[in-house]
Amino acid sequence: MKQFNNFIAGRWSAPDGGAYFENRNPANPSDVIGEFPLSGRAEVARAVESARRGFEAWRRWPAPARGDVLKRVGDIMTSRKEEIADAMTREMGKPLVETRGDVQEGIDTAYYASSEGRRLFGHTVPSELRNKWAMSFRRPIGVAGIICPFNFPLAIPTWKMFPALVCGNACVFKPAEDVPHTGTILVEILLEAGLPPEVIQLVHGMGETAGAAIVEHPDIPLISFTGSTETGRIVGETCGRMHKRLSLEMGGKNAQIVLDDADLDLALEGALWGAFGTTGQRCTATSRLILQSGIHDEFVGMLLAKTRSLKLGDGRKAGTDVGPLINEASRKKVERYVDIGVEDGADMLCGGRRAEEAGDGYFFQPTIFARVEPDHRIAQEEIFGPVLSVIRVRTVDEAFAVNNSVRYGLSSSVYTGSVNVAFRALNELDNGITYVNAPTIGAEAHLPFGGVKQTGNGHREGGWEVYEFYSETKVGYVDFSGTLQRAQIDNYAGSPT
Ligand code: NAD
Repeated sequence: MKQFNNFIAGRWSAPDGGAYFENRNPANPSDVIGEFPLSGRAEVARAVESARRGFEAWRRWPAPARGDVLKRVGDIMTSRKEEIADAMTREMGKPLVETRGDVQEGIDTAYYASSEGRRLFGHTVPSELRNKWAMSFRRPIGVAGIICPFNFPLAIPTWKMFPALVCGNACVFKPAEDVPHTGTILVEILLEAGLPPEVIQLVHGMGETAGAAIVEHPDIPLISFTGSTETGRIVGETCGRMHKRLSLEMGGKNAQIVLDDADLDLALEGALWGAFGTTGQRCTATSRLILQSGIHDEFVGMLLAKTRSLKLGDGRKAGTDVGPLINEASRKKVERYVDIGVEDGADMLCGGRRAEEAGDGYFFQPTIFARVEPDHRIAQEEIFGPVLSVIRVRTVDEAFAVNNSVRYGLSSSVYTGSVNVAFRALNELDNGITYVNAPTIGAEAHLPFGGVKQTGNGHREGGWEVYEFYSETKVGYVDFSGTLQRAQIDNYAGSPT
């Protein structure tokens, strides 16, 4: 069986204790992709020591030259797109059409990051005093700890590492343990593109060991974490105690609202893609469908017919609409939530059980619950599987209130023919992203991405904002008056003398 290794201190190396974990194909668990290192504190310590050396050299590269490396990364990913997508589907399960999109997002992020190497703007502003300049500019921070979830095996690591690198930081990267192969491919590409080897360190392993060692390492001043709200809380506590800069992107409980004046065919396509794409394992997945009473029954009928026709199976086979869940623990969690939905009195309209007919993998039937109350657990908690809760409302106000009644705030969507209601939704829905006449998913690489409430801690990935997270603002004053000038005390040009 193929053994993969960490990349630490400029070379591929085995874990200290020699222990590995298996990575299996969730559509066909007898297909073992390979063994990956079970790393811990010792590997992380060596990675950080090397990354600090890498950082000292890398920070001195001109930012446009750092951007050129990312340009080459984008070119290599473009030429290897199909192969990477296939490897990703094999270890993560989502259909090829989706893993190709995941790679494309990485490519777009690479080209955006590359061009950002020529911007990284600061400000030059007038000084209060004569013959003095005042400006702000951006400096890199140091070694960034990068901890990623399983559901976007390539795109999410690129969202974090590419801006971190362009800003001049070094990275210690831990991919999610369910998708270590894609993470390995990404590091290979960074090296092939000419990234100095000590600037990137790849440490495989479990969250409680390798992940925790990264979060707790005193020489890692910034952590970027995407994962569940529960894990984010643990990471946040440590970072708070250690005064680390921290970006948290966590869970969601996103809703699609369909109002009486909506284009129902369009809303139907959006609901299917939002709820069952990636088997419901997107942070932006639609897990609540809020229907206005005038269209409720008709829309549920349309949705049921289409959902029943979705084809489950191996994402590498043509015609597959929905792949497996990531592992057996996830499938058990989804089953538990189906039981909770039934016990709470919701109507299970379809699905609700394992889809053994689709294969030996962790398949689960797309499931729809109707008559769900906004405070039911299946309408409040993140399930991260193909389970959609339908909630009936009478008015627009009620729809907005239900949308806002959860502890998460990542994305929302509203289908309406009214421009007034559309703009009200943008203003009133408590989410980081609101889509009008489009599903809850579909972020673009050059716009800020993230959520409010317990989805995030105020930072954003993507777009221009993430560059602020990975760099520190510094201010420089240059006084060329040849005299001591005291800010706020000595006269400034406009004051009467
Ligand atoms: P997870 O929280 O189980 O794991 C995420 C990462 O954290 C993994 O690499 C894991 O090994 C690591 N980890 C676990 N325990 C740790 C610890 N104690 N210290 C340090 N690291 C630790 O999440 P997951 O199951 O991989 O991903 C699904 C979750 O991610 C969902 O909640 C989903 O909503 C969320 N997500 C959010 C976004 C977003 O941008 N908001 C995007 C994608 C996924």
